[in-house]
Amino acid sequence: MQCLNFNFTIQKPYSYLQDYTAVGWCSSDYEKLKHTASIQEYLNYKIIKNLERTNKKCPNCFRYNKKDFPLYTTQCLNKLPAILIFALAPWIDINNLLTFNVSGILKHYILKGIIYTNGNHFTARLIDKDFIIWYHDGQTTHSVCQREQYLMQIENSNQLKFCREQYKAILYQFNQFGGHRSQGTIACRNVTRVPPSKLGCRNRFVVSKFRRFKA
Ligand SMILES: [Zn+2]
Repeated sequence: MQCLNFNFTIQKPYSYLQDYTAVGWCSSDYEKLKHTASIQEYLNYKIIKNLERTNKKCPNCFRYNKKDFPLYTTQCLNKLPAILIFALAPWIDINNLLTFNVSGILKHYILKGIIYTNGNHFTARLIDKDFIIWYHDGQTTHSVCQREQYLMQIENSNQLKFCREQYKAILYQFNQFGGHRSQGTIACRNVTRVPPSKLGCRNRFVVSKFRRFKA
């Protein structure tokens, strides 16, 4: 926090985004965001602040000039865990891919798994390295998973929020995605019609693909 009138700053670590984060459960956030936000929009709203006015007063201005000046807050990310797990409030829409600016570097996180429950039994969807969604239920699919569609083919958040009618999502796992992978590999050959020459690398391709399907 800083005072724009006087040379005064307070720096403190802020850790809203943990490896497990409850997203959207605060009713004042629900009102401020007008009852609609994706995971990305909600987290940006919570994390990124640039000289936002607070209701705190500058102690120096008060002490030396007997004047009330507000303090302003600036917030950014400087580190993130490799895996993010979210418990989403029902009004939050799902992004397949999340992007954060971490100390000036863009880091991407891709949806890897969802856990569902109907209150007395748990099922799950997993997303493999080729972005294929697999369904697992110990009672019906037993030790194998049932293949569903590609993650990129999901156009509506509700397709991921619910499963087999009776199951509701309770936890979402995102893994950090990117870094340095081999060049020129095309993900999801069945889905893409982008010529390989246009693709710098697998990651950049996937990121652009998901941007188009952003919830
Ligand atoms: Zn001040």
